[in-house]
Amino acid sequence: MQGLMQHGALTLDKIIDHAAQWHGGREVVSRSVEGPIVRTTYREIRDRAKRVSNALLSLGIKPGDRVGTLAWNTGRHMEAWYGIMGIGAVCHTLNPRLFPEQIAWIADHAGDRLIFTDLTFLPIIAAILPRLPHVEHVVVFTDRDHMPGEFPLAGEAPRFKGLLAYEDLIDQHGAECAWGGFDEGTAAGLCYTSGTTGDPKGVMYSHRSNFLHTLITLQPDVMGLSQKDVILPVVPMFHANAWGVAFSAPGSGAKIVMPGPKMDGASIFELLDTEGVTFSAAVPTVWQMLLQHLEATGAELPVLKKVVIGGAACPETIIRAFQETYDVEVVHAWGMTETSPVGTLSVLTDELEKLPYDQQMPYRLKQGRPPLGVELRLTDDDDNLLPHDGQAFGHLKIRGPIIAAEYFRGAGGKILDQDGFFDTGDIATIDEHGFMQITDRAKDVVKSGGEWISTIEIENIAVGHPKAALAAVVGMPHPKWDERPVLLVKLKAGETATKVEFIDFLQGKIAKWWMPDDVIFVDDIPLGATGKIDKKLIRKRLADEGYSLPEAPVQPTPAPPPPPPEPEPVATQTLAAADGGHGAVIYAPEPVEEVEADTVLSAPEPEIAPESELVAAPPPEPEIQQVSATDAIIAEATAIAAAAAPPEKLPEPEAEATAVAEVATPEPEPVQIKAEPEPPLRLREPDPAEPSKPTPVLADAGEALPFAMPITPGKRGKGKAAAKAKSEAAGKASGKPPRWASLYLDLALLIALAPAILAGGGALGVKLGMIPLPLGYTAMTLDWAPRLAFISVATGLIGLIIALSAGFGRLWKGAVLALAITAATFGVMVAAKALGGQSPPIHDVATDWKTPLGFSDAAMAARGGSAEIVVDDPSLPVGSAAYAGRRLAEINAETCPAARPLVSERAPGDVYESIKAAVLASGMTLVTDDPMDGRLEANGSSFWYGLTDDLVVRVRPDARGSRLDMRSIGRDAGPDQGRNCARIGTLMTAVRGQ
Ligand code: ADP
Repeated sequence: MQGLMQHGALTLDKIIDHAAQWHGGREVVSRSVEGPIVRTTYREIRDRAKRVSNALLSLGIKPGDRVGTLAWNTGRHMEAWYGIMGIGAVCHTLNPRLFPEQIAWIADHAGDRLIFTDLTFLPIIAAILPRLPHVEHVVVFTDRDHMPGEFPLAGEAPRFKGLLAYEDLIDQHGAECAWGGFDEGTAAGLCYTSGTTGDPKGVMYSHRSNFLHTLITLQPDVMGLSQKDVILPVVPMFHANAWGVAFSAPGSGAKIVMPGPKMDGASIFELLDTEGVTFSAAVPTVWQMLLQHLEATGAELPVLKKVVIGGAACPETIIRAFQETYDVEVVHAWGMTETSPVGTLSVLTDELEKLPYDQQMPYRLKQGRPPLGVELRLTDDDDNLLPHDGQAFGHLKIRGPIIAAEYFRGAGGKILDQDGFFDTGDIATIDEHGFMQITDRAKDVVKSGGEWISTIEIENIAVGHPKAALAAVVGMPHPKWDERPVLLVKLKAGETATKVEFIDFLQGKIAKWWMPDDVIFVDDIPLGATGKIDKKLIRKRLADEGYSLPEAPVQPTPAPPPPPPEPEPVATQTLAAADGGHGAVIYAPEPVEEVEADTVLSAPEPEIAPESELVAAPPPEPEIQQVSATDAIIAEATAIAAAAAPPEKLPEPEAEATAVAEVATPEPEPVQIKAEPEPPLRLREPDPAEPSKPTPVLADAGEALPFAMPITPGKRGKGKAAAKAKSEAAGKASGKPPRWASLYLDLALLIALAPAILAGGGALGVKLGMIPLPLGYTAMTLDWAPRLAFISVATGLIGLIIALSAGFGRLWKGAVLALAITAATFGVMVAAKALGGQSPPIHDVATDWKTPLGFSDAAMAARGGSAEIVVDDPSLPVGSAAYAGRRLAEINAETCPAARPLVSERAPGDVYESIKAAVLASGMTLVTDDPMDGRLEANGSSFWYGLTDDLVVRVRPDARGSRLDMRSIGRDAGPDQGRNCARIGTLMTAVRGQ
């Protein structure tokens, strides 16, 4: 049976209609892009929004069409929203903080037909318009007087009809327009995730979901806005709908103050102060700027009552500063584009509010509880529900009518589990009071020894250090524990600090095995387009800089006396430029030298720089001498043959590590803020006070060595003489050859083995980094080894003659063996030559020679100045035998069947992820990882000699889905023995198989 109530579709036009009718005179104040403060009212906003609707209809916009906005928070932007949504078109907010290529990709993917923008962003629009075939009009939020004189496009944009001035446009249209009348499930807004975890994906809000989100956020324990409030949304309308404020403010009748393009501390303070703002919302970095401004100027916040802080974890220092110094209530909130965005808020329960203030703090720091309309759950990797005990870490999942059900155009496929929950990609705990705490982004969590370490928790504590301005924790590869955390700290201006200070500061506040292995002082911590720490970029930078963890983690200041007598304290050891120039403390029981605040990980850069610019110059390449095709193949083949027999005794690092672990003194259990179980693997350091015990050997234990004779020295001496006499007598009796002849044949055998030993030794030496490439490869393997092979022919033959002519019993065996080894060596050389002769003398293989794949500046820098040059359409030089003078495009087609593009029905993003996984699995090192552009670059070295090749991969949309192309080029001239062809074949097969 149905209820008997009116249906009343929940469409967003009703919100601004309500505001215009019941709060019509309430102000909407904007800092305009042109400069002055502009005042209007909800009544005017509604009227002008209707004009926008009429203008859009006249320009041919129909229900369902996407209309982009690339704009600051202003009253005009709000009018455009309601104007677009009122006629059933979709308002697509574009984030100007993304790279222009990303904006172009997103606007193109969305199929935007018209874009509203601010004067500020015209250069971006001019640059990307040629890539937006659907855009016909760009409307600039300004009047005719402020329109630019000219608008030079970066290329041809066939459908683009011109720039329009917003004020002109809406002046030409009346305010009579019928809004609504469609289903509440109709799409209203489109916002792409910032792509921090893959390709941007479009979240398509409906009128109903936004309407419900408005009602949800108006609950008192959410934002609880009232018509008496004055709200300043610093959080931009282009990111997650300004947390719904453009709906909730008119919905409640609150006065709204829009900050326009200025979001620095001074500008925000000016608006807070002059407009009497009672409520505001922003990400932590904005609040940090405001607090710094207040501290510097001594200003107060007498009217501001409440701030909502979200988008990233809110540090305790911010909460305390607002509450204790300025008497402003802080509500810490969590959400995401996919959740409209409000998901949880840390509003204290009645029970918790009765606790002393300091005991409330852990709860204020958490992300809080879901409001009515949002369901949360926590699961393990196998989808089992986890308890709400504040300890169990798990995948945070969410369900409700304001949560995305799928992405626009089906990106990412099915995104809900069998119960309809969406996996947020966040890792969290939920405590017994229902307070959820984000411990990490699933992609950022540090996995050490099979256990998870929360980077956010360490960051929150580290940023509370009085000298810290910003802190970030990332995991770095560790040979034993998989990953270990590294703390990056941006110091406050003028501050200096030591690594140990930060380690000491964390001491006792986190579990001991969570303690970062290293502290790196940086001049900047990169923030992504949505103001969050860009850990992907940090990890990439560290990798590009060749950073590796220090051998021993930074140690805290040792506990009070007695001081350890051993060893000699080693002061801060700053690694030379080769490791990127960042210092690494090896062991520092004494205070170590000060690190200047401006000790940088990388040079200062613009707010958002393309990744390609951030790639550091690589260390100089070792000089590689040119070698011929056959030489190279002989070398690799001989080396492999020789090295197949491993040296008798290899160093045993594992045994060493075990010995260290065994002698380590058990550490007292640190004070832990969480009673988490001890992970199975704990990092333990050898106690410098206790010298390592020598590994016991059998001899020390009084046991007989396996090869020792169980006789006394005296007896042994006697026995030796007797044995010698016995053997000589036996020799004579059996006609044994003279000693010099046996010695000669031993020498001949050694010479016969020498080429393999040299080549093998050269390869192993280069591989272990003990011998430089020119010596191990060119000299030992290519030069000396073949010469010795020729000499061994002569010595072997002489040996045979000696054996035959001397006519002595078993001597011929040695001679034949020497000759047989020589013959085998020659066999390998001839086979290698034959193989080399079959493969063309090339080192460059590509799947597309029509639009050749070039390398980015970063990849060229990594390739180094001494590498062979990369040519668009290469041909082989005269002297290349059968292939002389021919174009590589033809030779590739003939000799490398694998060198064909891969066209598939899979989405480009999907194919990109597959090829990236295949490249990484092949052991190559990424240089460029740009899924937006579909460009991936990497390099890899051959196993034995480290001959390096560069790979560039391109994934493009194709009529059938996507097209994958590759080019792989050796850095050395001449033939690559099919290495690059084989690589492309392997990678293509891997992608095909997925
Ligand atoms: P994206 O960066 O993928 O576009 P959003 O901008 O929607 O995603 O941000 C959502 C993510 O931001 C969340 O999944 C979470 O990781 C992080 N986040 C949001 N609020 C908080 C918070 N208060 N504390 C910690 N992390 C937060």
